[in-house]
Amino acid sequence: MAYVKFDTPGKGVLVDLTKCVGCGSCSLACKLWNDLGHDDEVPDQGPDAKLSDKNWTAVKFFALEKDNEPVYRFVKNQCLHCQHPACESACFSRAFQRTENGPVVYYPHLCVGCRYCMLACPFDVPKFQWDKSFPLVTKCQMCSSRVDKGEAPACVGVCPTNVMTYGDRDELLAMARKTIESDDKYIKHIYGEHEAGGTNWLYISDIPFEKLGFRTDVTTRPIQEYSHEFLKYTPPVIVAWGGLLSAMYVYTKRRKEVAGKDKKDVPM
Ligand code: SF4
Ligand code: SF4
Repeated sequence: MAYVKFDTPGKGVLVDLTKCVGCGSCSLACKLWNDLGHDDEVPDQGPDAKLSDKNWTAVKFFALEKDNEPVYRFVKNQCLHCQHPACESACFSRAFQRTENGPVVYYPHLCVGCRYCMLACPFDVPKFQWDKSFPLVTKCQMCSSRVDKGEAPACVGVCPTNVMTYGDRDELLAMARKTIESDDKYIKHIYGEHEAGGTNWLYISDIPFEKLGFRTDVTTRPIQEYSHEFLKYTPPVIVAWGGLLSAMYVYTKRRKEVAGKDKKDVPM
């Protein structure tokens, strides 16, 4: 299976977790830009905040201790927009594609609903619309239509404390390195520099990442390398599912119509 490779790292976002006050403006901006609506089951802010098909970004609250003092931290989660996305590699119908500018975009009209992307993602990002008659996979698209116009994602600009900086990934990495080296309070680690082969969303923090819900056991090897191994099992699955996939043509066509109405930031 051929994948388009881009030499340039593209645009990204640097998140400085020491600056977040947990106001939730970023999550609200995401919902408004993408017409996502409120999730009655899953909160997008607070200690139980989680990503869901309606929460493409969520701000999780942590009560911790630092130097024997209580401290509170807030972590904004969303798709990390991997440089070598496992979701893209696992998807035989090309519904996930990394764009030249950096965002990893999900194209609902190409999706057959197998949900391999959900298995492949090391960060548990893609979510399925279990309650819909014509369900899709959903996730943060990094506001790809805005990024294509040279604009930052909707969440970035609304943050009142400038937690997020948008720009070229190379420049963000240099900025992150300078920040953590010049200030003792920071952990000497840039999350996303190497995780899963590198991600376009990067994080710096004064609290160890494992205490903030980040996966720190994720490989630094590009996951695409071995999700191709996983994909070698796909052809028999396709054969076995041949009849089913044919029947899904009508289903997918209908979903394309629904997606066209529902999604504002999903190029078709
Ligand atoms: S975080 Fe998951 S969904 Fe996002 S690009 Fe990486 S593998 Fe894909
Ligand atoms: S808008 Fe900024 S300060 Fe408010 S929750 Fe989001 S990242 Fe934190």
